Amino acid sequence: MVETAMLRRTASCLVLIIPLLTACKQAAIEGEHAPAPSASASAGHEKPKPGGAAHAKAKAEPEEHGPSAEKKSFLVPFAWEADHENAFALSRSFFRDMLSDNEIFMRANGAGHFKPFLDKQKPRATVVACSDSRVQSTALDATPENDLFTIRNIGNQFSNAEGSVTYGVHHLKTPVLLILGHTGCGAVKAAMKDHSKESEPLKKELDSLTFERPKGSVDDNQVWRDAVLANVHTQVKDATSKFAHEVEQGELMVVGAVYDFRNDLGQGSGRVAIVNVNGNTDPTKVSAFARAVRMGEAPKKPDALPKTSRVALNVLRAPQ
Ligand SMILES: [Zn+2]
Repeated sequence: MVETAMLRRTASCLVLIIPLLTACKQAAIEGEHAPAPSASASAGHEKPKPGGAAHAKAKAEPEEHGPSAEKKSFLVPFAWEADHENAFALSRSFFRDMLSDNEIFMRANGAGHFKPFLDKQKPRATVVACSDSRVQSTALDATPENDLFTIRNIGNQFSNAEGSVTYGVHHLKTPVLLILGHTGCGAVKAAMKDHSKESEPLKKELDSLTFERPKGSVDDNQVWRDAVLANVHTQVKDATSKFAHEVEQGELMVVGAVYDFRNDLGQGSGRVAIVNVNGNTDPTKVSAFARAVRMGEAPKKPDALPKTSRVALNVLRAPQ
């Protein structure tokens, strides 16, 4: 009986130890010369705190392994970082950065920063963007707070987000609805391929990307680029149809744009290229629109719009 119990204990020890051996070894080597551990890693140097799988392991080991256990209880938290692609290491690094960045953000801004929009938001644009991590609002708005009401999903889809978009247009009364696609969009690419083996929720979202598939293009990159554009046009068309009244009344402008961090459109890496205004895709008209919005001081109220912009807005009403 005693032998059986010992065997069980040994087996359970091995289960705990084996996955950590390689990592611990590396951590032990690095531990000799490594710089001071970060705040959260240092916590592992102290008494293990109750709760959490890692702490449970760290706590369990001294009881099982005698004199060397103290060293192991120090090393276990570092084992997360022996492999930087390890999920624990990535998670910890993310949250460490998150807390640190947030601290810097708070100190940089202070309460006064938030005062103007404590009780109410007043964004100028409702934005439907792709969830892609390479697409962030800072590429198009240096001060997105209280300015962009953003909805994100894979493939920057209007139909999947109609409720949220409607809130932005009808309740927040943003004068702009921006559909923001991007080059290199994985969702657009996946929608064009067989995705029948994907999970139901994902398949459903890819199936709703119904843009017209590009034909006759010479290479895959061109097909991909054209598909991104086609998707933006389809989303703008759907949104313009849904908010036809607001567009016709001049209360809303539905604009399609492509964030081109790959320079697939040849206008420079990182360019946000406007490609559709209220359903107009004629490059001459769209260029005229882009030129017009750059003219003069940035107007805060519609009454302050320069004459040229008024002309541009009239020209760019939704096609009948
Ligand atoms: Zn995308």
